[in-house]
Amino acid sequence: MIDYHIHTQHSIDASGTISAYCERAIEIGLEEICITNHCELDPLRNDSFIRFDGEREPFSNSALLKLKREIFEARDSYKKRGLTVKFGIEVGYYKGIEGILGEMLNGVDLDFVIGAIHCLEHICIDSSKECATYFDQHDVHQLIQNYYRAVEDLIRSGMFDSLAHIDVYKKYGRNHYGNNICDSSPDFMSRIFRMIRDNHIALEINTAGMRFMNEFYPAPTLMKIASEQGVKMITIGSDSHRPEDLGKDLALATEYLKSHGFDGVYTFDKREPSRRKM
Ligand SMILES: [Zn+2]
Ligand SMILES: [Zn+2]
Repeated sequence: MIDYHIHTQHSIDASGTISAYCERAIEIGLEEICITNHCELDPLRNDSFIRFDGEREPFSNSALLKLKREIFEARDSYKKRGLTVKFGIEVGYYKGIEGILGEMLNGVDLDFVIGAIHCLEHICIDSSKECATYFDQHDVHQLIQNYYRAVEDLIRSGMFDSLAHIDVYKKYGRNHYGNNICDSSPDFMSRIFRMIRDNHIALEINTAGMRFMNEFYPAPTLMKIASEQGVKMITIGSDSHRPEDLGKDLALATEYLKSHGFDGVYTFDKREPSRRKM
């Protein structure tokens, strides 16, 4: 089993050292993990930090190189114990980030780059504290339209290996707009999944939804469309923000994938995908 979405204490909203995660991975029998800390770069927000030894540092190319050294150290020492450790990142995408992100990643040698939409109009819809600010100003159709417009820009940017938690808006949107947001499969979803297929970006199965609302990201309605539209590249991750959540529900997610006709997941090495059969 592999887990390709993990936040260590370097992310300002997560806890657990790299070695705590590696030890936990061995304990629960994972073969490969990819550490994907947050990279938020919006100059209009105040979350563009990474943490080292409890101290916040502004995100920079040199901070990423420092993180790389720590992850590579773990990679070397845990290799002997049969665990593969990959170096990834989860970028909070917004239109216009391309130039600064390119500079940020220059020479960093990442294995895997996840793109995520966390913010719309600079408000984090994936934050319990902030989401109401956005939801109060938009009806559910505006939310979904604006969210997927941002997803299309993310895909078109060509900068990412996988698209994180595609229907993350349901996490807090459900309380605000009602349960039917979970089944929301607007008519343009077929186009979105064709774009995913044609732009060679993977679709992530993210098990964090299970912990928040007993449903994976993406919801079954979306998985069905993804499968019909011929999406093939899938990555899988727990999105754990503490070692206890590492690997959670991955076995269930594998069954979920199989039930929708998928039989493989992808790993990445220096941004090169390879398929492994489930
Ligand atoms: Zn995310
Ligand atoms: Zn994440």
